[in-house]
Parts: sequence; C-alpha cells; structure tokens
Amino acid sequence: MKKIKKIFDFFYNLIYPIKCFDCKKNHYYFCPDCLKIIPNYLNNRCLFCGVQSLESGDLCIKCKKLYHLNNIQIFTYYDQEIIKKLIYEMKYNSVFLIARDIGIILAKKFKSLFYKKNCLLVPVPMHKAKIKKRGFNQTYLIAQSISRYHKIPICNDLIIKTKNTLPQMSQRNFLKRQDNLKNAFSLNKEKIQDSKNKKIILIDDVFTTGTTIKSCAEILNNYGFKNLNALIFARKSKKY
Ligand SMILES: [Zn+2]
Ligand SMILES: [Zn+2]
Repeated sequence: MKKIKKIFDFFYNLIYPIKCFDCKKNHYYFCPDCLKIIPNYLNNRCLFCGVQSLESGDLCIKCKKLYHLNNIQIFTYYDQEIIKKLIYEMKYNSVFLIARDIGIILAKKFKSLFYKKNCLLVPVPMHKAKIKKRGFNQTYLIAQSISRYHKIPICNDLIIKTKNTLPQMSQRNFLKRQDNLKNAFSLNKEKIQDSKNKKIILIDDVFTTGTTIKSCAEILNNYGFKNLNALIFARKSKKY
C-alpha cells in the first residue's frame, strides 16, 4: 500500500509540483518550517460565549447544555494568507492532498483527543449534489487521514445533508446562517445503534459562527448521542 502511495505521489508531483504556499519550498503545500511558526489557536475560552473555560477547548456549562457539545478543538486562525490559500486550493482547485496533510497536522497536534478507544470520527457532511460537483468532501478526506494515523473508525454517513444549502461562508449574518441550515441534516437510522455510545468527534475545515457544528450536534442529541465533540482546522472571525 505504501509503495502504491509513493508511486502515486511521484506522478502527482510531476503533473502538479508541490510547493509550500508560503516559502515555496518543494514537496509540501504547508512545509514543516512554516507550520512551526503558525500561531496555534488559543482554546482557552468557551467558543460560543467567551467565558474562560477550565480545560482547553471545553465549552462553558451553560453552552454545553444549550448546544449539546462538550469540547471543540481548533488548530489555528483562518485569517492568515497561507491558511486561506490551503483551504481555497483544497476546496476549489481540487488539491485533495492538502486534506490529507491537514488531517495529519490535526492528528499530531490533538493526540490526547483520541486516547480513549471508543472514538468515532464523523466528518461534517456535504450534500450529494455538491460532492458530485466538487468530486469529494474535504472533511471526509481530513477525517480519513486522522483515522489512518490513529487507527480509529470513521462513519461518513451517520449524518446526511438532505438540503443543498448555500455555502455558510457566503451568508452575511448569524440569522441567515441559521436559516440556511434549518432542517438541512438528518441521521442515517441504520448507523445509530453502533455509534450511539461512542465519543463522537465531528470533523470540519472552517469554523465561522459554529452554526454547522451546532446543527450536527443538535440532530445527534435528538437521537440520544451524548459525548459530542468537534475538531476543526481553522477559525474565521474570532470574537474573543
Ligand atoms: Zn513553507
Ligand atoms: Zn459558553
């Protein structure tokens, strides 16, 4: 398998030479030197209300109850040229190898999240019409990469996007975002039984106001899921 991957990487690199988006070094889109100096997101406050939280990434007691989420870890801030470029190229120029690298970055940085054996990675779903257009769901590719790294299972079709919504990032305000995602998700009934008692880790690439993650958590909670968490690559418009 490793050999096939190496051969694939070799030819891929011939057609699309890989260079760091920042320093232009070969072989990486985001090289280890640039990765080292990127500011880590400060996960020291509740993501939704700004209250100082005790553990890194934890929501405050009030928001935990309100949104049915325990912990949300974020790697970095979206508002940096290299991060914007990585996300853009991954999504809109189909550079899907970026998703693999983002997965490895998250897997290494947040090792402690995966210690407990009963984790289940759940990528934030994309509507099937959008997957057809783009060719892939980047959150699934990111999750796949984490899954391979830590050898933990992944369930790509536990949550299904039933409504083909407008991109959340294009929605101007919170109410528009909320409205856009109303009844947009459903659960795959066949997968509920096996996943219900697991520690769910929702995987997403960008966090804006959190409406997507909240909507996913809400539907999981409606079906009795209890241990809900999220791991996200970058946060846009940090308030606190
Ligand atoms: Zn670099
Ligand atoms: Zn809070």
